[in-house]
Amino acid sequence: MDLGITGKRALVCASSKGLGLGCAQALAAAGCHLVMNARGAEALEAAAQDIRDASGVEVTAVAADITSDEGCAAVLAAAGDVDILVTNAGGPPPGLWSDWEREDFIKALDGNMLTPIALMKTLLPGMMDRGWGRVVNITSQSVKAPIPQLGLSNAARTGLTGYVAGTARQVAHAGVTINNLLPGIHATDRADALDGTVAKAEGITLEQARSNRFATIPVRRYGTADEFGAACAFLCSVHAGFIVGQNILLDGGGVNSTM
Ligand code: NAP
Repeated sequence: MDLGITGKRALVCASSKGLGLGCAQALAAAGCHLVMNARGAEALEAAAQDIRDASGVEVTAVAADITSDEGCAAVLAAAGDVDILVTNAGGPPPGLWSDWEREDFIKALDGNMLTPIALMKTLLPGMMDRGWGRVVNITSQSVKAPIPQLGLSNAARTGLTGYVAGTARQVAHAGVTINNLLPGIHATDRADALDGTVAKAEGITLEQARSNRFATIPVRRYGTADEFGAACAFLCSVHAGFIVGQNILLDGGGVNSTM
């Protein structure tokens, strides 16, 4: 399927690895020029070069912490006018509800709620003026089904989801759509870290921890960054103009709910 976005400019945040990289690769394969971002310059430049080599698109790489004011400003300055925005950043650490102080919540809100909002606030007006735009926020299945030890993430991402629900309906008239992609567990560094923690705590091997988790997912495997990226690229395509303000679970059926 031709996604109809050849030559569009896309900013993909936190995209040197994992789900962000999957989105960047899929958008590049669809012919989009990219601005990519991550904190670590080496992995970012390597990922950017791989994409240039594979897809022949222009890629600008900006090494910066997207959740800091300075990092966000540097990325926005390099990006200029973009047609497509994919927001993403690392998730807050796990813990217990009674451990977290105000500062912990402020940090989580900055990373997973206020940064995507700041990016949208800056970039939506240009998209609306030009009469076309796509925003995809990478959030989490925890928006639909809370993960108890990720209370900081549950809180911040649900806040973003509420903001998007209203804002998406205020910009859609100008040809701009905003939607959220909700990953369940995917085979990225983060999944390895989670399985490593479980293996250590339970005194089992990494493989055993992984296969125990597979058993909880109806498709019996983790999602891939390629699958995730393809879904993102479709939401950014010309075919997705009637999809507005949705929260789309990519979780292999892991969240057990009817709707
Ligand atoms: P990942 O494989 O660890 O990759 C994270 C990427 O984001 C890396 O490129 C990393 O590069 C970059 N990054 C992290 N913090 C950043 C920051 N402050 N500024 C700029 N770049 C940053 O993670 P992932 O699995 O793709 O997860 C992406 C998001 O989805 C996270 O918020 C995660 O919590 C959420 N999520 C993931 C899963 C899953 O199963 N994978 C499930 C639910 C939700 P640097 O470290 O060099 O900055």
